[in-house]
Amino acid sequence: MRAKEPIKKICEYCGCEFDAYSQNARYCSHDCNRKAYREIKRKEVVFLTASMAEQTKRERAKSDLSEREYISISEAASLLGWCKQTVYNYCHKGIIPAKRLSQRTTLIRKKDIEALFDVIEPYEILTTGVRKPIDEWYTIDEVTEKYGLLRHRIRKIINAESIPTKKAGTRTLIAKNRIDAYFKKRGFDTTLSNLADWITTPEVMEIYNMTEHGVRVFVSRYAIPKKRLKGKLYYSKQHIDKLKNKES
Ligand SMILES: [Zn+2]
Repeated sequence: MRAKEPIKKICEYCGCEFDAYSQNARYCSHDCNRKAYREIKRKEVVFLTASMAEQTKRERAKSDLSEREYISISEAASLLGWCKQTVYNYCHKGIIPAKRLSQRTTLIRKKDIEALFDVIEPYEILTTGVRKPIDEWYTIDEVTEKYGLLRHRIRKIINAESIPTKKAGTRTLIAKNRIDAYFKKRGFDTTLSNLADWITTPEVMEIYNMTEHGVRVFVSRYAIPKKRLKGKLYYSKQHIDKLKNKES
């Protein structure tokens, strides 16, 4: 139906004002009408394609997990609601049986995941790591002698690292494997583990021709092992020697 008086309208495609002769007119020109139609169709196709792809993906994933006997790491991850790395971790630990077919392909049998629940043991609260029973112990003096740390430093390490200790009369005993592991991890030079030679500051000054201040700076910078005996400080000669030889 064509109105006699034109109505001012805004084109829905290009946004310009135009004279409309119909209430229903939405576009200024045939050209805009055509372009707008194409645009709508294009969006419909894009939307349809996307939703179809999404649906296919969902269906495939669903049938994958319900019907297939063997699944990949990432499928196992989505089945369990984990990230892939977590699945890998359990595979590496041997908790989830997995077969590595190639660098990029690992297969898991779905029934192996289900079989994890075939045998249920009483729920166990896991401590951090499995600990071997401790059968060897150091006294604090032995640790001082071996690693050249003052007693208060050793006590700090024991507390900070929760290293097991036990009392034997008035003496404190320290779990040998744990304190050894601590120093090993921190790169303690085990070739120098028998600190046979201990020297005092005046001796260091004399042997290496250093000032007292120089010795203080040196032993602290290189964390030279030290011990206190009857109020006197001793330093590990081997450690100083090693560093001094490197310097010269
Ligand atoms: Zn237009």
